[in-house]
Amino acid sequence: MKQSPKTDLTPLQLTEADIRHWAGPAVFSRGRAYFAHGNVLDPCRQGNTLRARCIGSQPQPYRVEVELGPTGIFSSFCSCPVGLHCKHAVALLLTWLHDPADFRVLEDLETYQILPPECPRFQTWG
Ligand SMILES: [Zn+2]
Repeated sequence: MKQSPKTDLTPLQLTEADIRHWAGPAVFSRGRAYFAHGNVLDPCRQGNTLRARCIGSQPQPYRVEVELGPTGIFSSFCSCPVGLHCKHAVALLLTWLHDPADFRVLEDLETYQILPPECPRFQTWG
């Protein structure tokens, strides 16, 4: 189902408290530092899924993905060793909360099928 990016920019009300509750205070504070330092690169959004590259401790940025649902944060996945509920996801969520206009809106799947399949979850990345 294709939705218009113009009418689709506020999928839910997300607050910093929601993110902190989801990640836990320690991870949240580290993620907030990442957000404050501008570590989140090229954020994009397709439907309720947010994706970005996030600069971490490795030379290559991690790829992080968060899916939002009607009741809040539905799931997250990241290419870092932690993988789930990590600070990179927190940084991405804070970017979404504070700078939603920075997110490039992807309208359909066509632009996703470019990346090498180094990780199955990211085969659809553009
Ligand atoms: Zn991560």
